[in-house]
Amino acid sequence: MREWQGLVAVVLRVNAASMGCQEGKRMKKCPFCAEKIKDEAVKCRCCGERLDETGGIKPKWYHTTYAVVIALACVGPIALPLVWLNPRYKIVTKVAVTVLVVALTILLCYVTVALYVELMEQMRELGVFD
Ligand SMILES: [Zn+2]
Repeated sequence: MREWQGLVAVVLRVNAASMGCQEGKRMKKCPFCAEKIKDEAVKCRCCGERLDETGGIKPKWYHTTYAVVIALACVGPIALPLVWLNPRYKIVTKVAVTVLVVALTILLCYVTVALYVELMEQMRELGVFD
């Protein structure tokens, strides 16, 4: 009976080792698949997702504030889905950024039209259209 218990203990230990669950190692829960992984892990062995240094979710490159700001500066309101699909931004942030970007777009359109009208006025005074 004691030998049988010893065998079970060995099998359980081998099984635990093959699962990557060494005793004494601190474990954490993967935020993606909820499997237990090593505390130092930067990539989940179960689902393959990458984790950041603090054990949280490492943001995708297009979810970093840096990428979002660049995208908004380059294409304006077309980049707003990046803000709305970003899981790290609160709803207040999303609404504030959207209002700001839309207001800035309207302002820039207004300035562009005003400059165009002014340019046409000056060309007419110079007699370009005569
Ligand atoms: Zn995982």
